[in-house]
Amino acid sequence: DLDVADLDLAALVRTIPDYPKPGVMFRDITTLIANPAGLRAAVDGLVWPFLDARVSLVAGIEARGFILGGAVAHELGRGFVPIRKKGRLPAKTIGQDYALEYGVDTIEVHADAIRPGDRVLVVDDLIATGGTAEAAIDLVRRSGGEVVAAAFIIDLPDLGGADRLRAKGVAVRTLIS
Ligand code: AMP
Repeated sequence: DLDVADLDLAALVRTIPDYPKPGVMFRDITTLIANPAGLRAAVDGLVWPFLDARVSLVAGIEARGFILGGAVAHELGRGFVPIRKKGRLPAKTIGQDYALEYGVDTIEVHADAIRPGDRVLVVDDLIATGGTAEAAIDLVRRSGGEVVAAAFIIDLPDLGGADRLRAKGVAVRTLIS
């Protein structure tokens, strides 16, 4: 059995300075998810607040949100829906633009993936400005789904993303600041 009780999750995250560009401290979760107890503790931490939340679907944001969201969906006994960068999903999609530091990007979900009345848990590895997660939330809502919460391993609180989501009426769960 895995001993997750006294695990220091933050210590398993690797920080890469100046990646992908100067000034960014990249928080790399590959070291955390390669660690059996780390993966277990992270997934459990994202799941247990929602055991009784009547989640009907888990939506994960490309790419690291797929790894975590898939495990969360499995634990909850629910299905998984991928939210992907533009042009990657094969069937009919709906898209949502969001602002980057320079320019815009688009994420998409299959048009039939989320049904009116679905209660959706949105999962990603990290929330920074919240722009990506906000676009994912907009896709869920435009599909007729209700966002139960958005869950992340890491919050970068100085960038205000969690507060931005809460201002949209979304509950936010994070494990590390
Ligand atoms: P944002 O839309 O600003 O909240 O950025 C969140 C997305 O960008 C997530 O999918 C993260 O994986 C990625 N991201 C942003 N900043 C970082 C960072 N410092 N380290 C690792 N990933 C990041």
